[in-house]
Amino acid sequence: MASPFIIGGIEAGGTKFLCGVARDDGTILEEIRIPTTTPVETLTAASNFFTQAARRHGTIAALGIGSFGPLSLRPSARDYGCITSTPKPTWQGTDLLGHFRQILDVPMVLDTDVNAAAAGELLFGGGRGLDSFCYVTVGTGIGVGLLIDGAPHGGANHPEAGHIRVVRAPGDATFPGLCPYHRDCVEGMACGPAMFARWGRPAEELDDDHPAWPIEAHYIAELCATLTYTVRPDRIIVGGGVMRPAMYGLVRNALEHKLACYDASLRDVDMLDYIARPSAGASAGFTGALALGFRHVTGRWPMHWAIGAMDSLHTEDLHS
Ligand code: ZN
Repeated sequence: MASPFIIGGIEAGGTKFLCGVARDDGTILEEIRIPTTTPVETLTAASNFFTQAARRHGTIAALGIGSFGPLSLRPSARDYGCITSTPKPTWQGTDLLGHFRQILDVPMVLDTDVNAAAAGELLFGGGRGLDSFCYVTVGTGIGVGLLIDGAPHGGANHPEAGHIRVVRAPGDATFPGLCPYHRDCVEGMACGPAMFARWGRPAEELDDDHPAWPIEAHYIAELCATLTYTVRPDRIIVGGGVMRPAMYGLVRNALEHKLACYDASLRDVDMLDYIARPSAGASAGFTGALALGFRHVTGRWPMHWAIGAMDSLHTEDLHS
């Protein structure tokens, strides 16, 4: 594709859809926030935005979408492009990709919100220069994005590493876990709502020396140990609303203990570097979605994009 061209991106989240268009040099031309209400309302507002943006800026070469899920991502699947078993009631079975395909005649790529955020970290954060890394978010749920050998990993659909089973933390024998499917998977034991259920207060209200944190760190380290042994990433970036500065040391220590010097290649790994904080900024998921669109057109990541150009966004809220 000859430069210049226009890319569209959507960060589809549980509370808002962030939609925008950018030039292939990474300059954001327009961006809009649309509240996540009903699928019809939100998706119509989003596709209207892109139709109008194309009139103002020219044909969109590709649209990249990073969405909450679970999603159906296997192109041969009957429900390809749909949001499947989400706990968000009215969004179950929503044909996300189908809606945009009906309205916009442009190539599209759909991936998970966490893979899009990982792409953002690849461009502007802790994933820069790495071949393989994991992006973990610990918040209302636990999600894991995987960039393996430079590409977002999907497999036969997409991994759900937030639902792996975990060994219980010492002193945490009775909490049943909150996952409606598995009870005590890592999300069920360590997401924000699980902390609230266990301690009677939101995680952000607990002091750094509260006994909640070593238990929380144990579960996040369990997840990181599994990711280490399955994926063997260069780094694991851990973020999300439940993480706080004091947690990183606890997770690193717990992980080092769990790995028990088993893999010789891990003995030289600096845990300070291995378990890192996200550093691509709050809009990593959105810039990652744009990057997925760019990669769909060109076959490569837009490593020339500059975080400065993407940060100086003029955003307007759409209240509908
Ligand atoms: Zn689960």
